[in-house]
Amino acid sequence: MPEREAALRQELVRAARYLSDRDLTWGSSGNLSARIDDGHILLSGTGTWMRYMESHEFAVVRLGDGSAVDAIRPSKEFPMHAAIYRNASEARFAIHSAPPYTTWFACTHRRPESGLFIESMHYLDRIAEVDYALPGSAALGEGVAAVAADYPVMILRNHGVIVYDATVRDALMRIESLELACRLAFLSESSGSPLHLLPPEKIRAFHESRAYKPQEDKAYGAQEGG
Ligand SMILES: [Zn+2]
Repeated sequence: MPEREAALRQELVRAARYLSDRDLTWGSSGNLSARIDDGHILLSGTGTWMRYMESHEFAVVRLGDGSAVDAIRPSKEFPMHAAIYRNASEARFAIHSAPPYTTWFACTHRRPESGLFIESMHYLDRIAEVDYALPGSAALGEGVAAVAADYPVMILRNHGVIVYDATVRDALMRIESLELACRLAFLSESSGSPLHLLPPEKIRAFHESRAYKPQEDKAYGAQEGG
């Protein structure tokens, strides 16, 4: 196995454990992928659990027709992942999961505000909603394909969310920032304490200042000690 592919498998395993540790995924729901090269992706195998993910449980899949290169059968949700890699050239990692508060938003057909805190401004400035279609269907893939180029965060109605980014850390930050924004909205509505959004000029100044730098250059997992 090429060194690069082995490293990607390790990154995906660590991301799966992180999602599980942080209650951002549950059971066998959710799957994740990475771009290997122009024609191939790694995608978690069908029936795998994020919690117990191992590096050999990923399928190498041809982006063109979805066929697997080896014996591991990829997740049936390949069409969504493929739609991202075909339409968003900057996408290197994609994560699909169903965190509780995000799923509440997905089931109430809404998207959270992004002008809440630094991470939400940075990671949630482009959120799309994708209409429900059966998980794994070509229709769901087409729904994602229609918006993937412009929206790195896609709330899947009555299903969950799929995000992508150039690094696995930034993809995780998108999921976790989304879940926090959805949770704050839920708490606000439940408690009757309104959230105060940052004013548009502050949000504009934030985007113009570029003061907040994502984790792009850091090797994922460098501080985790394995
Ligand atoms: Zn799903």
